[in-house]
Amino acid sequence: MRKKFYLTTPVYYVNDVPHIGHTYTTVAADALARYKRMRGYEVFFLTGTDEHGDKIQQAARKKETTPIELANRVVSRFQSLWKTLHISNDDFLRTTEERHIKVVKEVFLKLYRQDDIYKGTYEGWYCTPCETFWLESQLEGKRVCPECGQAVKKIKEESYLFRLSRYQNRLLQHLEKNPEFVLPPTRKNEVVQFIRGGLRDLSVTRLRLPWGIRCPVDEKHTIYVWVDALLNYISALSYPSDSLFLSFWPANVQLVGKDILKFHAIIWPALLMALGLEPPRLVFAHGWWKMTGEKMSKSKGNIVDPNPLIKDYGADALRYFLLREVPFGEDGSFSLPLFVKRVNSDLANDLGNLLNRTVPLVTRSCGGRIPHPQDGNSAGFEDLTKNTLSRLDQFMDRLSFSEALSAIWQMVKAANLYIDRSAPWRLAKEEEKQKELHTVLYNLLETLRILALILFPFIPSSAQKIWEEIGMEENLDSQILEARDIWGGLVPGREVKKGPPLFPRIKE
Ligand SMILES: [Zn+2]
Repeated sequence: MRKKFYLTTPVYYVNDVPHIGHTYTTVAADALARYKRMRGYEVFFLTGTDEHGDKIQQAARKKETTPIELANRVVSRFQSLWKTLHISNDDFLRTTEERHIKVVKEVFLKLYRQDDIYKGTYEGWYCTPCETFWLESQLEGKRVCPECGQAVKKIKEESYLFRLSRYQNRLLQHLEKNPEFVLPPTRKNEVVQFIRGGLRDLSVTRLRLPWGIRCPVDEKHTIYVWVDALLNYISALSYPSDSLFLSFWPANVQLVGKDILKFHAIIWPALLMALGLEPPRLVFAHGWWKMTGEKMSKSKGNIVDPNPLIKDYGADALRYFLLREVPFGEDGSFSLPLFVKRVNSDLANDLGNLLNRTVPLVTRSCGGRIPHPQDGNSAGFEDLTKNTLSRLDQFMDRLSFSEALSAIWQMVKAANLYIDRSAPWRLAKEEEKQKELHTVLYNLLETLRILALILFPFIPSSAQKIWEEIGMEENLDSQILEARDIWGGLVPGREVKKGPPLFPRIKE
């Protein structure tokens, strides 16, 4: 039986159209999902949309439409963006789907019956934009939301509460025993500090909020949108009894932006513990893309729209920039000059030129057919390949996409240097150097074949183009990466097919 790998992005909130932040999480998840498939895993990659709550209702009212119509419109924007970006998700869950609603109600009932949820009163401060309740102590004397800075309002009302306090010690033990449960480590420390500060029971229903999942024990209430949203990770697997759930839970990696880490590293595992389920293996909080040092937000009007970037420079250029430019987990600065510089130097110059220099040499001096290597001397590229593959594995396990790409680029650069040094265009002119020429070209083409394989998770459509140009006819997306005997898979005698430049240079 193949090893299983379950990977999720958050369900994205449909009060806003997709921007670079959503794109970042989803592209990272896609690279990891594709990589794991290539390593032989059976992968389940889930993304989707979060469609209930106060904010959606308000946004719909402003646009003079209904919440579900608003959601439908925004959902199609997400789905078409993921398609343009070649996102290979296995499922797309909408929290308004019946399959999800059913599970949320079942979970609520179960927790209520076992006294993990009880009826009480809720008193606190509520931020509508963030749909978050704040304690007096968290506001530090101010009447504004610590997250978004908007005014909060005092609320006291009947509510159902989840006994979060009951799980405080178990959560701390879990974090202690599983140092890799929350990464990066700095984020984990924040979570531990927060739990140590004391967890209060969590209000999990709302009165007078019609746009939500009806509370199964009290019709006046709807279920708190965060509890609703978090449960998507198991409802998509048809919890509790479907074979999908039994074979894929616990999730291996759950990717989140750092702003929603507390929900995923505290409330989520506590809910799972209450249900008698294992927490996910890893919750990874990545950083934000900022514009001139500020977090992007709709109110500041500084949101980067991925669509024009894809239209002008291609999906792969954007995918590459997002994963290469900044270590995953840290904040990054987005600017067009940085984007152009990165695409030109790495994709147009290094990778594009390697392909553009190699394939025409085969056309001119080998009749367009892949030559046989004459002396079996890989000029060090066989070892370099094995070494790169093992480093790649380590980096991908730590979600270090930037380092993974940097390791791959050492191969790209080594191959470019090899062309300069061995000067195949000169060898081509000398009759007695033909064997040497064939070996050099073979080594270059075989290196390109391996690059196509290992770049496929990151820049899938460009990898496909490289693959085809060097005469590979097998399906790239069903290839399995095996470090042991990877070198030598190129097929001599097949025809190369020169294509247009992989990444045209962008004018700065
Ligand atoms: Zn707020």
